[in-house]
Amino acid sequence: MNNDIKIVIDAGHGGADSGALGNGLKEKDYTLLIAKYLKKRFDELGVKSILVRDTDETVSPSERVNRILNAFGNSSDVLLLSNHLNAGGGEGAEVIYALRNNDTLSNKILENLGKEGLKMRKVYQRRLPNDNTKDYYFIHRNTGNIEPVLIEYAFIDNKNDADKIKNNYERYAESVIKSVADYKGINYTSPITKDTYTVQKGDTLWNISKKFGLTVDEIKKLNNLNNNLLYIGQVLKLPNYDTATDTNITYIVQKGDTLYSIASKNGISVNDLKKYNNLTSDNLSIGQELNIPKGTSIITPSEDEIINEGSVYKVQKGDTLYGISKKFNTSVDKIKELNSLIGDILTIGTNLLIPTSSLSDIIIHKVVSGDSLWSLANKYNTTIDSIKQLNNLVSDLITIGEELQVKRNTK
Ligand SMILES: [Zn+2]
Repeated sequence: MNNDIKIVIDAGHGGADSGALGNGLKEKDYTLLIAKYLKKRFDELGVKSILVRDTDETVSPSERVNRILNAFGNSSDVLLLSNHLNAGGGEGAEVIYALRNNDTLSNKILENLGKEGLKMRKVYQRRLPNDNTKDYYFIHRNTGNIEPVLIEYAFIDNKNDADKIKNNYERYAESVIKSVADYKGINYTSPITKDTYTVQKGDTLWNISKKFGLTVDEIKKLNNLNNNLLYIGQVLKLPNYDTATDTNITYIVQKGDTLYSIASKNGISVNDLKKYNNLTSDNLSIGQELNIPKGTSIITPSEDEIINEGSVYKVQKGDTLYGISKKFNTSVDKIKELNSLIGDILTIGTNLLIPTSSLSDIIIHKVVSGDSLWSLANKYNTTIDSIKQLNNLVSDLITIGEELQVKRNTK
């Protein structure tokens, strides 16, 4: 019935290109979760759709355009949904459409995202500064006759928006489904829910309970189980759940995080968090990725909790690429590659991605009364010079409450 409708679903960024970062989230993860949700829902509605990527894969702009044009051909009746999260100081959703198209679909999408509780910023077209006959974004400019819409759902570096995306991305994706259904005259039906789960290899009652936000006891009771044994292929009864929902999210360890703070942020116990990630110790490293079972209620961190970006270094006055590379025990080339830098010029305040492996032994020490550079150097088995260099300190003076990056040497 919906046979003539063709939709290409693009999950922005991927692989080496994380997209925007903020509040412990990576844009590329959520664009993929959203894209997969859209795919599943179009399948349910009997609409043909193709994902540009379905794994955490690096896709160059030219390769991305090839895949888009090759999905259903270069035709104006092909719809392209390019999913993104914004950053840079703002809040809410934006939808950008191509110069060759009108704003009908974009307006529907923005309106429906607004109904789900996202701030409605704007629907617009964007032109190249040096040639205003051309679209600014390659996803519009290089995609022939296809009708592309670029959806910036929310700002990942805004705490409100990041929480919304983390907790409600399926709802926002669903509102895109509704908009497309309305625009293309697709007969819209609500997501299919299921009330059974088939046990797969590696499953335990414990991880199934976490997947679905239940307790082991609840599942046992529902299924009249009197022990914890499961077999592959066993069908378990569960409360209704949405089959388009993905089950895990990734949390990137931030400066200042502890297992305890992450566990409480995500409404899970420290033991469960360790178990779920096969952690044998309490040590975390900045940039480390943790699986958080979805379905656990996400508790919003308190206002005074400091949330910094893990694998990101903010360029300070006096920094050079060489100096930063020394600080983090990496190379200038690696930093340039990771950040797609062409020259060597840095701007103060720019967030630079740092190869995460280099960050692993850097911890944050909040200065308390009685601390001195000397005592810290002793405590962490490092040197005063190393601490000063790492924090661009010009004197030996430190102030209470100040957060210092310290490279901990274990032996
Ligand atoms: Zn993006």
